[in-house]
Amino acid sequence: MDYLQLLKQIPDPEIPVIDIVELGIVREAKLVDNRVEVIITPTYSACPAMFNIEEDIYKLMKENNIEAKVTTQLFPVWTTDWLTDEAREKLKNYGIVPPEKGHDENHLKIPIRCPRCKSTHTKLISRFGSTLCKASYQCNDCLEPFDYFKCH
Ligand SMILES: [Zn+2]
Repeated sequence: MDYLQLLKQIPDPEIPVIDIVELGIVREAKLVDNRVEVIITPTYSACPAMFNIEEDIYKLMKENNIEAKVTTQLFPVWTTDWLTDEAREKLKNYGIVPPEKGHDENHLKIPIRCPRCKSTHTKLISRFGSTLCKASYQCNDCLEPFDYFKCH
C-alpha cells in the first residue's frame, strides 16, 4: 500500500487546495512492526493547524484499519523549498504567491512579484495575513492586494 498516496487525502487545513504531502510536511510513511510510522515536520512551529494534521492522520489511518504512529520531527526544519512544483502551481491558481525556490531564508528581503501585473513594486502590509502562514502584500502599481505564502 502506498501510504503517501493515502495521506494525500488530507488537505492543508489553511489552504484546502493542496494536501499535506504536496506541502512537504510528511517526511516519511513507512511500515515498522505492523505499524505505519508517519514522520511529519511542521511548517511553522507555532502553527496551530499542526495539531489538526496529526489528528487527521490518526483518523484517516484508523478508517483504513491501519495502526499508525505520528512522530513530529523538527529538524531539519521545513522550508518552503519542500513545496512540490505541483503545490506551487496550485497555490498560484488559488491566488497565493508561492515563494521562489532557494529564497526562503531571506524571502522578506527579495522583491515579491504582484500576481496581477508582475510588478516587483510591492509592499508588505502585514506579516500575518488571513492566516498565520500568509503575509498580506499590496502592489504599488496596480494596488492589487494579495497573499504571500510565508510559512517556514
Ligand atoms: Zn500589480
